[in-house]
Amino acid sequence: MQAAVYRGNSVVSVDTVDTPEIGPGEILIRVEACGVCHTDLKKIEYNLLAPPRIYGHETAGVVAHVGSNVTRFQPRDRVIVFHHIPCGQCFYCQRKLYAQCPVYRKVGVTAGFEPAGGGFSQYVRVMDWIVERGVEKIPDGVSFEVAAFVEPLNTCLKAVQQCDPQPDDVVLVQGQGPIGLLFTMLLSLRGCTILATDTIPRRLELSKQCGATFSLDPRNVDVPAKLKELTDGRGADIVFVATNVKGLVEEAVLCSRPGAKIMLFAQTSDKEKIEFSGASICVGERSLLGSYSASVDIQKESADLVFSGKLPLHLLISHRVPLDKIEFAFRLATHPGEFPGENPLKIIVRPQDAE
Ligand SMILES: [Zn+2]
Ligand SMILES: [Zn+2]
Repeated sequence: MQAAVYRGNSVVSVDTVDTPEIGPGEILIRVEACGVCHTDLKKIEYNLLAPPRIYGHETAGVVAHVGSNVTRFQPRDRVIVFHHIPCGQCFYCQRKLYAQCPVYRKVGVTAGFEPAGGGFSQYVRVMDWIVERGVEKIPDGVSFEVAAFVEPLNTCLKAVQQCDPQPDDVVLVQGQGPIGLLFTMLLSLRGCTILATDTIPRRLELSKQCGATFSLDPRNVDVPAKLKELTDGRGADIVFVATNVKGLVEEAVLCSRPGAKIMLFAQTSDKEKIEFSGASICVGERSLLGSYSASVDIQKESADLVFSGKLPLHLLISHRVPLDKIEFAFRLATHPGEFPGENPLKIIVRPQDAE
């Protein structure tokens, strides 16, 4: 089969590799669509994990083979797959902090080499503990590319539930990339007043279609003043930080009212330092929250929400590429500034397409 193999030094090559073999309790999926996620791009750009690896974890496809003892699935089932599933029993799982579970960190979907998701290839092997709890069937009428949003949507829904927004809340979403736009959609379902910010006109335009009440470029508009105007001088009730531009968390604190919740969703770098006064948290009684990765508790709910058609997810897809074009897709997603006019958002890799 063909696969995009990360070879080290930020190089990805499309190679012929062995189609994975499956064992008892496992299934083989023919990958039809896999979303490109920034966590994969980071691992490639900064060489975070030793090569060779085949990345890609927002995977949708068709069951091609089932191992012995598999009863829930059969060949030709259309499915999405999560690449991590927690043990359900450890200290962290008991406290519902699934992303901290040691078993959760073990990747259970692979196209070969050290398991890394494998979705940027034509077939993936799904290991038994994932088959049991991490695979959902896609209903008829839902495309593979929309179904591939189940995993990223789950991560956003988890963060939204942690903040528990109410219909009369005024919420600031900083950054309207694919993740920020998912937040905007979910908050719109909750009936919140949403102020969405970004510096790219196309993203601001989309944020309106995704439910933002106000879509603003912070370079042209005084965002804290606008929020105060909407809240009798208080500031945002909740802020979602959905991009990692320097100084943005400081801005989030400035834009929020006393007692607000501030969700750090894009602050995944160990190197990023954030600086504001202790009093803005202590005296201002603000809560800084973090959320990372998906929750198995809302797996069904996030799948149902994606499949329901209630969210305009198709708007987020900017590019569809065959494997041969994956290097371009990665460059485009990592350095959008080098490709004026392309406006990348969610890029979907379609491994069965020929160039
Ligand atoms: Zn992802
Ligand atoms: Zn656990």
